[in-house]
Amino acid sequence: MRISDYPFTQEAAERVRSLGYSLENLLGKTSFKSVRSRAAERVQGAITGSIPDKQANSEAEHLAELLSYPLARLMVSCLDDSILLRRYALAEAKLAFKRMQNEKLELILLANDLGLHPQGSGPWKLYFAEYIRAAHRMHSPKWKLVNRDLQEGYLTVTEEELKRLLEEAVREKVQKGLPLPVDETVCAKLEDYLTPLRGELEIVKARLKVDLGKVEESAFPPCIRRMLAEVARGANLAHSARFALVSFLLQINMTAEEVIRLFNTSPDFEEERTRYQVEHIAGASGTQYKPPSCATMTTYGNCPGEDELCRRIRHPLSYYERKAKACAPLKTSEAQK
Ligand code: SF4
Repeated sequence: MRISDYPFTQEAAERVRSLGYSLENLLGKTSFKSVRSRAAERVQGAITGSIPDKQANSEAEHLAELLSYPLARLMVSCLDDSILLRRYALAEAKLAFKRMQNEKLELILLANDLGLHPQGSGPWKLYFAEYIRAAHRMHSPKWKLVNRDLQEGYLTVTEEELKRLLEEAVREKVQKGLPLPVDETVCAKLEDYLTPLRGELEIVKARLKVDLGKVEESAFPPCIRRMLAEVARGANLAHSARFALVSFLLQINMTAEEVIRLFNTSPDFEEERTRYQVEHIAGASGTQYKPPSCATMTTYGNCPGEDELCRRIRHPLSYYERKAKACAPLKTSEAQK
């Protein structure tokens, strides 16, 4: 395992410490320019989609790869944007996953460093508590504990699954502690790199902005508004919330295409999977699903609390219809002014 390929590990952090370079030198010395450039490239990759995988060959290239990681964390912290923080952690995890494809025995060293202790020589046995910690954000049914061969506290994972679990562990590890508490003077010294990154981030965020087309957004009930806000900031919705949001938007005549585009704000947006889910709810399999009632929304923790109108309705769609009607004359009279 080349430690510069996995700069987020404990071992890499110890190596960086043992090298003893001062932050002052990293930020200012000409000899560290390649480190600063690679750090900016890591952040830019996170903004635009993926970090380029640089094959380090010389000692100097390994060093740049290793040191660019803590510096990239500083840059991300200076930019201090919640969407970027998540995209950055995900991009580092995806880069690590790509590099893992060339690993065999070293996979275990990496797993151990990340707090996972698979046993055997593949497929591996993994202790259930470690599995749950790594897989708790994976939503597809195959990751659910009830669908695994749990025996005496251990379950089996294939090589591919272990790599996915490690990718998820990397994402969590990278995101942990971000944003770092950085001094303004440090950010000022990085400004030459931060200015273009800030510009690119704004462009990407503008592109990701939720566009609801002709729908009367001001008539949305509090539950739907909260879910849309979550989607807009790139968070993953729980399955029940995702279902409620998609079925509601389809019901008020947004097209499946418009709804799919809406979820494009998520850094780990998978178009094919989203398309399948949205089209399924829209009725591709013969049943067009209706959004859940307020009572069901409350049971699943998807009702953020009622407002005045909520107290007079029992369904989010009734809320929308009443409020949209109330908004319509207002809009007409405004247009006539
Ligand atoms: S009461 Fe119904 S419409 Fe109002 S926020 Fe809760 S679930 Fe939504």
